[in-house]
Amino acid sequence: MRVLVVEDERRMASYICQALLEEGFAVDGVHDGAVALEMASAYDYDAIVLDLMLPNVDGLTLCTRLRAAGRATSVLILSARDLVEDRVAGLNAGADDYLVKPFAMQELVARVRALLRRRQGTGAPILRVGNLELNPAARTVKRNGQPIPLTAKEYALLEYLMRRPSVVLTRTMIAEHVWDFTFDLSSNVVDVYIKHLRDKINEPGKASFIQTVRGVGYTVMDPEAIEV
Ligand code: CA
Repeated sequence: MRVLVVEDERRMASYICQALLEEGFAVDGVHDGAVALEMASAYDYDAIVLDLMLPNVDGLTLCTRLRAAGRATSVLILSARDLVEDRVAGLNAGADDYLVKPFAMQELVARVRALLRRRQGTGAPILRVGNLELNPAARTVKRNGQPIPLTAKEYALLEYLMRRPSVVLTRTMIAEHVWDFTFDLSSNVVDVYIKHLRDKINEPGKASFIQTVRGVGYTVMDPEAIEV
């Protein structure tokens, strides 16, 4: 899951980015409203954490413009202002949630997760495909109840795939949601990570949870459903 963090106060920005990175998100941080608007228009972010007072384009304007352009990305507004009118203005500008500074980083992460669940229509906090189970809050993966240790990137990749079971995802879509903007699309990193992930999550002698769709990309499926 890829998140854009828009915050001009650099210490706060790096603090938020770090917290989200530690939770396995791919994160891009920007300090300027105009740059943020460009990036949010160019990339299909899963969520945007948006400060209100920003240089060049303020948070409310940014949110309004994104919605006017048809972008449905989840937006969590951050602000030191806790007046009811400000919160209402933020929500009316198209934001999905509002967090007043100062806040606990744990709460920010939990709210971002809740937004992602709602956006993807999967209200269930635990994702399941066959006997494979992923818990986004605990960041654990189990097969038949047995924990499978994954690296942060492998976990992020699996979470993205499991949030869209049976949907064919291209390498570009995967790269855009799991890696940040420094990712080199011409590399075979996605394929390499898919291989690592298959080695860890598949049951020996059974069909793979991750199916290759030749010339297109990958999809996650219950192997039991494929074998029949
Ligand atoms: Ca600010």
